[in-house]
Order: sequence, then C-alpha cells, then structure tokens
Amino acid sequence: MSIKELQKQDKVKFLADTLDRIKEVEPKLHAFVTTLTAEDVKKDYRSESGMTKLSGIPVGIKDVLCTRNLRTTASAKMLDGFIPPYDATVVKKLKDAGAIIVGKNNCDAWAHGASTENSDYGVTPNPWDLTRVSGGSSGGSAAAVAAGEIPYSIGTDTGGSIRQPASFCGVVGLKPTYGRVSRYGLIAMASSLDCPGPITQTVEDAAIVLNTIAGKDEKDATTSDSPVPDYTKDLDKSLKGMKIGVPKEYFGLGLDKEVEEVFRNSLKVYEKLGVEIVDITLPHTEYGVAAYYIIMTAETSSNLGRYDGVKYGYNAKESKDLIDSYFKTRDEGFGDEAKRRIMLGTYVLSSGYYDAYYLKAAKVRRLIHDDFIKAFEKVDVILSPVAPTPAFKIGEKADPVSMYLADVFTAPVSLAGLPAVSIPAGFSKDKLPIGIQIIGPHFEESKILNVAHMFEKATENDEWRKNKVVV
Ligand code: GLN
Repeated sequence: MSIKELQKQDKVKFLADTLDRIKEVEPKLHAFVTTLTAEDVKKDYRSESGMTKLSGIPVGIKDVLCTRNLRTTASAKMLDGFIPPYDATVVKKLKDAGAIIVGKNNCDAWAHGASTENSDYGVTPNPWDLTRVSGGSSGGSAAAVAAGEIPYSIGTDTGGSIRQPASFCGVVGLKPTYGRVSRYGLIAMASSLDCPGPITQTVEDAAIVLNTIAGKDEKDATTSDSPVPDYTKDLDKSLKGMKIGVPKEYFGLGLDKEVEEVFRNSLKVYEKLGVEIVDITLPHTEYGVAAYYIIMTAETSSNLGRYDGVKYGYNAKESKDLIDSYFKTRDEGFGDEAKRRIMLGTYVLSSGYYDAYYLKAAKVRRLIHDDFIKAFEKVDVILSPVAPTPAFKIGEKADPVSMYLADVFTAPVSLAGLPAVSIPAGFSKDKLPIGIQIIGPHFEESKILNVAHMFEKATENDEWRKNKVVV
C-alpha cells in the first residue's frame, strides 16, 4: 500500500501486517540486515509528533544511515556490531514526523556496487525473479518496497544507487539535488556525491517523503538553505508546451534493445501529453564512468581511512602491536571491493599521479556539469534510460569493470549534482521491470516529480502494471 492510501487505514493493524509480511518474505528476499520486533518499534515511536502524513507508517532505512541504539553496519563486516549513539538527520526528521522504523535495509558493503552482491551479509535477490540481482547499492531498500514488505525506504545515491535498484525492482527512486538532503549521520562513501533520498511505490509518495527529509542542516555545511517547497503541489500540472530533451549520446553505450523500446514508448506517452521531444547533446557522456570512478574512489579511500578498529567496529585479535593491529583489522574487516576502491583511490591521489588522474577527472566533471547546464537552456528536463539492461543474473558480472559500466546513465548526473528520478515504465519479455530516468536542473525536484507523476497517471491502466512479484 502507498503512503497516500495508508492515510485512511488502521495504522496499528498495518504495522502488525508489515511485521508479518517481513517475516514471511525475508527468508527468500533478505532485504534487511536487521529487523525490529513489535516491542522494539515502540521504543522510538514519537506520539507527540501529532499527525503528519508519515506518522504511524513503517519505513526501512538503508543500513548506511546511523540509527540511534540500533545496529548500523553499512552491510560491511567492519561495522558488525556498531551501535550508533545518534541518529542521522534524515532519520531524526522521520522519527520527528512519527515514522516507524521497522528495519535496516541490506546494500552493497559501504554502498560500493550495483547489485548488493558486495554485501558482507549476503545478496538481496530481485523480487521479480529470484535468480537475478535487485540492483544496488540500495538493493535491499528497492526489493523490500517492491515486495510489499514496507511502503517506503530511505536509500542513498552516489553514482546511481537509488535510481538503478528502483529501475530493476519496478519502484520509484528519487535522487535529490546534492545538498538538498543532509548527509549528517550517513556513513560516507564519496562526500561530494552522496545523496540520501526516498524509494517509494508512487511518485506522490516520493514527494511526501522529500517534504519531510529535505532542508538546511547546521550539521552538514553542504546543505542548501534554498527554501523547501511543498513537493506535492505541482504534481498534476499540465505538461503542455514543456520540452523534454533526449541525449543522443545515450544510445549506443551498450543499451539493451528492450530497454530502448520501453524508453521509446515512454516518449510517445509524453508526446500525447503535449510535450515536445527535443534532441540534445551531452558531449562528454562517454567520460562519465571513468571520471566518476576516479573521483569516487579518491574520496572513498579517504573516507575509509578512519576504520582502524580502535574506537569502534571490527578489531582483529592477536596483533603484535598497534601497527600490526591496523593492518590486520583492515585486511580482515574490508571485503575485496572496498580494498579495490581504497587502492584505486590512493593511487589516483598519489603525488606522481594526482595531476594525470584526479585533477583531470575533476576537470572532466566540470565539463559534464556544463553539458547539462547548456542542455537546460533548451529543455525543461532530460529523459534517459536508467541502466543499460534490466536486472542481470546473480554472479553474471564477476568482472568489476562490467559492473561499473552499469552506471553509464546515472554517474554523469551524480557528477553534476543534479536531481533525477527513476520511475517504472514497462517490462522486458522476461517480466523484468524497466525504468526511465527524468533529470532536472539543480533544485528543480518539483519539476521532475511533476513530469514523473504525469507519466504514472497516463499509464496507470497499462497492461504491464498488472504484473506481480514472485515473493
Ligand atoms: N554503482 C555505483 C558504484 O558502485 C554507485 C554506487 C552508489 O551510488 N552508492 O559506485
């Protein structure tokens, strides 16, 4: 049930049903690292918050966001047993609004990945086909929402981690503008890219959740003080006369035929809504993945430097001395992917290679940003596929580079700090969901949500919407 529909329901009963549904589905889906009991959830419930649209409604939180007195692991062995003494700002805002946290969603360890296969706590399969991945890194969040375990979840997106799993699982995933939602209390991956945001069943729900979690935060200096509008206000605005840009560089780049077909069909839907489709160019697209994997790993290597086993988290036993303890702790506590990123990031920042890699990538990032800004002089929003293929098989992308290429359509948007939403737009012949991505100018979340909502409305009775998950 959506947040909207839940407004008129018996919430006490719904909470009990939610906990039952989680118990029933989890053995197959493993979308949570930690789940709460009915007893646990009561402890945090703030009845004094009055009635908000979120009060009494269950929510899942990706396990990279700190929750006070509740284990937060980033799905990494290094943080197994870490109990944060404070709430992330996003979590605090939800609790203040009366939301009920029912568990922590599985993800790739440290949010490194596009499939949840990197989780140190096991993979979350796709609820539409259990032999396939749910996407990542917020795969647990997207799978849990798609499977009806929870009405919504909070994910995080650094290079696609909200949008891609949303597309793979057939739900809505909103990556807000960088700085729109506070990163305080988020276990940092790449600090200049990380964005928390909602994963929901409907576009309207994404707007409702964003209303609660957006805004300036004294504890995160990169948050913007631009006012937070009511994101539900413009959802039904007519799209007549609007211009939607389609970047020519996005066709090629390994785009699957069925994904392209769903995308082309969505253009027809928009044309019927009175939108003008405009060809645009984003000339530096082909450098997006490379620039992202340099900048992101540079920041990641720095952020992961703090895990030494001394103050919190995993600590290797039987070390000879302090230095030995650092080495053993990091060797045993980090998985292969984290180590790969630490090595890459340390390399691109090292004195001999800084100019050739990091500095160059930073320049490319600016060019990619400028491509988008230029495009927005001609069009209101940009439409693109989310990922080049539908959900792939578990184990299919053993080569890390092939996994990284899954980010071609999402990473450039992250580098530019823009808001983008992924919405369900159709299915493959194998009954796998396929999404489309709507990208807007900075802080124009209202606009992309409007464009997304009108698509949802125009297609609400389409045959493909009747498909059902297998769990
Ligand atoms: N798939 C991308 C990566 O592995 C994005 C991850 C993310 O957004 N957290 O880096």
